[in-house]
Amino acid sequence: MNNNRTSKQQLGEWGEKLVASKCSCPRCKRARTLKRLPQNFKCADLICDFCGYLAQVKSSKVVTVTLLPKFVLGAAWSPQKQRMDNGIYFPLFLVLRSTTESAIYYLPTDLQSPALFIPRNPLSSTAKKSGWQGFRYVLSAAPEGAFVRIT
Ligand SMILES: [Zn+2]
Repeated sequence: MNNNRTSKQQLGEWGEKLVASKCSCPRCKRARTLKRLPQNFKCADLICDFCGYLAQVKSSKVVTVTLLPKFVLGAAWSPQKQRMDNGIYFPLFLVLRSTTESAIYYLPTDLQSPALFIPRNPLSSTAKKSGWQGFRYVLSAAPEGAFVRIT
């Protein structure tokens, strides 16, 4: 379990660094302005240090990077639900990694909807974070062609 968490965190960190180094800011179009936010910063992973644009980054291991996975694990459900109730969405960079290559996809906020975010069952009473509830991104719920491949 601990090793699993660690490798997940490493994958996440790798994906954030990859986006920061390869992607221009979607809003101001400047290169190398996307910076990683601290791990405990909840709503976003990257900020543009020129225009203040915020984005989330999700990384996933896949067999082939040309095919989007059906699901990607998200973070805590409750704050996500509250954001959606307030109409708040963040742009999403999806980083896919196979054994041989990687790809970065981008999903802007105007193509996001509540259908994209599905709650998972709360963790069982025996789990370390008992009662904690996460969510999944249901990538197939995005409109056709919504995810644009950047690299
Ligand atoms: Zn910017």
